[in-house]
Amino acid sequence: MSTSIRPARPLKPEASPVNVVFWFRRDLRLADNPALLAAIAEADRTDGSVLAVFVLDLKLGAASGINRLAYLYDALQSLTTAGIPLVLRHGDPETEIPALAATVAATAVYCASDFGPYGHKRDDAVSVGLQVDGRELRSIGSSYVIEPGTVRKGDGTPFKVFTPFKRVWTALAESHSPNPTVDPATVSWCIGIDGEAIPARPLNASLKLPRATESAAYQRLQHFLETNMGAYDDQRNIPALDATSRLSADLKFGLLHPRQILPALRVGGTGADVFKSELCWREFYADVLFHHPRTASRSLNVAMDAMQTDTGDLAEERFARWCAGMTGFPFIDAGMRQLLAEGWMHNRVRMAVASFLVKDLHLPWQRGAKWFMEQLVDGDLASNAHGWQWTAGTGTDASPYYRVFNPITQGKKFDPDGTYVRRFVPELAKLSSKEIHEPWLLGGGGLFGGIKGYPEPIVDHAAERIESLRRHAALKQPIPTNNTNS
Ligand code: FAD
Repeated sequence: MSTSIRPARPLKPEASPVNVVFWFRRDLRLADNPALLAAIAEADRTDGSVLAVFVLDLKLGAASGINRLAYLYDALQSLTTAGIPLVLRHGDPETEIPALAATVAATAVYCASDFGPYGHKRDDAVSVGLQVDGRELRSIGSSYVIEPGTVRKGDGTPFKVFTPFKRVWTALAESHSPNPTVDPATVSWCIGIDGEAIPARPLNASLKLPRATESAAYQRLQHFLETNMGAYDDQRNIPALDATSRLSADLKFGLLHPRQILPALRVGGTGADVFKSELCWREFYADVLFHHPRTASRSLNVAMDAMQTDTGDLAEERFARWCAGMTGFPFIDAGMRQLLAEGWMHNRVRMAVASFLVKDLHLPWQRGAKWFMEQLVDGDLASNAHGWQWTAGTGTDASPYYRVFNPITQGKKFDPDGTYVRRFVPELAKLSSKEIHEPWLLGGGGLFGGIKGYPEPIVDHAAERIESLRRHAALKQPIPTNNTNS
């Protein structure tokens, strides 16, 4: 009896082998990576090979803090451990990518689209560089379920308000599901091309960063879905709880794509719906930045750029105290110290510390955003610039300028027993739940009850709130009579 052996791959047409380059950027994964699948399919058609590359772009490297770099290096390392012979180069992608493509005589370079202001320009320049030698840059997919620029109003203009954006986004997202996973052992990789070693983890990076592997990201997702999603709506604002997904760095670097999360959210329920909404905020801000690239560093509401802000020695000292978590407001200090310790801060506390910087210390939101980008492992230009602008009241719809977060009330409401403060501000660890958010009330004199090493409040919140509203009124921005002090 004769047996026939089925070839592992489809028979190739008679053509000379064609190599392609796959350029990893913010998509450091094998699962659901449509650009990688397309690169492999193209090489496969002609028995060619795929050159996997990553360029450590010196301009982006300089703007990334040590925590993001540590996470990135670990993620690159994990790709090589997974079996991808990654060629790493330091330099300018504009020259490195065309040079690498020429080295392997590639026909095309595949990557996911980048919609950020810098990435967009860089890709245009790389594309021009490739075209000189008759090569193409083929961008497929992106870090988002729906590519920025796609969701539009009926008249074709972009949204500046979240809720209607979400309505359209949700309908479009329904039809998206994850792509198959690549098995690196079945890919014909280009090997033997000179690359550099993945740099060592920066020494000062936080030791508490999430593990940067694709499987760890997937485990975090599973843990969240099984343990926390049901109660997400109720508990996501309590920073003492481990109730959010902690997936932000994974999504930022693409160890996980939001498309991989959507199927599990289709079960419905409040937790799943609210979580989907949060993923949509990420896409909304990317969309806003795409349409208004200047908002990476300027206010979306142009009039707000004229806001009077503080300068001088006192302002500098206050900024330094804010960065160090030494403002004398326990909830604010706990958040800023969490950022220093973990390279991450809970969303509720991000809002409170941002409001404090802008409306109690009267400093420009851009200074806080820059500090966040230096520290955050999930630092993302769109989410950060617009998270800050939401709180400062200079950006999209949700939080108007006259909404001033009360740093004491926020602590009492969202950390009622002081667990979060105690975790990050050890000087206050022995205080009771009643005392912990207003330690200056101890001792009967309105000042300190002998809490060694912990400062008095650096400002009077009630007075600064009024000052903040005065500055706002000077801009002739409308303030409704029912303004709140939340
Ligand atoms: P979860 O609550 O589990 O949410 C799931 C995912 O949804 C997050 O990982 C994130 O990708 C997305 N998401 C949730 N909330 C928001 C939001 N408000 N805006 C945009 N996306 C959101 N997020 C970043 O990823 N990078 C940043 O640089 C960043 N800077 C911020 C700055 C300020 C001032 C504020 C107020 C928010 C900022 N955020 C930023 C949004 C949010 O704080 C973080 O995404 C969230 O805390 C990450 O934790 P998580 O993954 O456990 O969130």
